[in-house]
Amino acid sequence: MSLKLIHISIREILSVLYPQKCLGCGLKNEILCRRCVQKIDYPTLPASGNVFAAADYNDGFAKKTIWLLKYRKIKTAAKPLAELLHTRIVQRPSLAAALKKGSWIIIPVPLSKKRLRERGFNQSELIARNLSDRMSVRMAPDVLYKLKDTPSQVSIKDRKERLANLTDSFAAKNTRLVKDKNVILVDDVTTTGATLKEAHKTLRAAGAKKVIALVVARG
Ligand SMILES: [Zn+2]
Repeated sequence: MSLKLIHISIREILSVLYPQKCLGCGLKNEILCRRCVQKIDYPTLPASGNVFAAADYNDGFAKKTIWLLKYRKIKTAAKPLAELLHTRIVQRPSLAAALKKGSWIIIPVPLSKKRLRERGFNQSELIARNLSDRMSVRMAPDVLYKLKDTPSQVSIKDRKERLANLTDSFAAKNTRLVKDKNVILVDDVTTTGATLKEAHKTLRAAGAKKVIALVVARG
């Protein structure tokens, strides 16, 4: 065996064994093509407050794409998820109009240091970065920080306990970046919305004028 062969990465081997194809239509070199992104159903529950979800977590395409990003660590899966968020903005004229007024900045919901170390990247930051490119709105990944390493929200059954668990779990740095700005907070999945509420509170205290949350899927 030549040395060259040994240098073929596992990723390359996988890409031969499982070539990337659109989950929806099989189009080559796509995770989920634009046309299939457009076919994702609206979430069944209406938007609540300033939180806009793009899909239900049970939606097959949304769920699978999030899974590929978070657990198979296919970072390009962030692109169709950002595309989905952008599609929902376009489909909601009042939201699109609001985003044209004032000065906006995109901020991803951060992971705790421990979780970031485990995963190696923040999936919400990748989605936010793609959305930032798509909308030409600046992203600031270094404003919001997660202080506590809270247990997974899903593992805490009682709602009150969930909320208590999240109290004061975020802090803001570089607050000059958000002062008098409107913020688009980006996250991959929300269940109770408690995390978003805490992040919202922290950003407002840091001087943000308005905060809206765009979430790929509501579980
Ligand atoms: Zn497709």
